[in-house]
Amino acid sequence: MLAVAAMAAMVGCADLDSGSLLVSEADEVQMGAEFHSQLLAEMPAHTGDARVRQYVQAMGNRVVPHTHRPNLGYTFTVVQSDEVNAFAVMGGYVYVTTGLLKAATSGAEVAGVVAHELGHISARHGVKAMENYMLLNGLASLLGKKYYGDLVAGAIQTVTTLTFSKDQEREADDLGLQYALAAGYNAWGLVDFFEFLDQAYGGGGGGGAVGGLISDIGELFSTHPPTPERINTVSGALQAREITREHAGLDWDTAEFLTVKALLY
Ligand SMILES: [Zn+2]
Repeated sequence: MLAVAAMAAMVGCADLDSGSLLVSEADEVQMGAEFHSQLLAEMPAHTGDARVRQYVQAMGNRVVPHTHRPNLGYTFTVVQSDEVNAFAVMGGYVYVTTGLLKAATSGAEVAGVVAHELGHISARHGVKAMENYMLLNGLASLLGKKYYGDLVAGAIQTVTTLTFSKDQEREADDLGLQYALAAGYNAWGLVDFFEFLDQAYGGGGGGGAVGGLISDIGELFSTHPPTPERINTVSGALQAREITREHAGLDWDTAEFLTVKALLY
């Protein structure tokens, strides 16, 4: 227990449940890098005006110091896709599609989504899904034996169909709200983006279930639109903190965002 507590403190998430710690942080980073290269082979990164990528990277770097794992090392990637989507991969990899940037109306909306994804990474949601998968499939013995490539290649198709639980989504919403606010973004942006998604993709039954591990927001809301409950939970948390849409010192980042958005094709 002492070792577990020490490790949790070391990565700065003593107040977050770390899971089984079957997958060490070094394992996580290495597997994340494998996922990242495989993902980029399937989903092209944005290659247009570099200011788009720089904007998202700067946004991510602004939020990271306020997360529970500020020292993990992060990579923020803009994916060229009209699908409205954002997702996180273990090891500090966060992705936002050009479709999401086109759909958003303020930087605060994008920041809310990015902060939500960083919440999944801080709470090790992807790692926990991987740990469960490995335990269920007897793969734990592969760890530490330099079989990461084989492990990931064999597992990626399965792992991408794993889902975050409703509780994990709620936790990521809560953490994302905290991180966005701490970074100085008006976190009502997350509510606005949920409401946009609800209107764009809503109408189904839904209920807060989630999409695949690597296709978080888009899959989530195309098949399971955000429930009034989830929107109300985030709104209520902001109201409880007496955060208003006009809150002094909190940034909507609209002007710079619209300039960047105009660079998209
Ligand atoms: Zn999520």
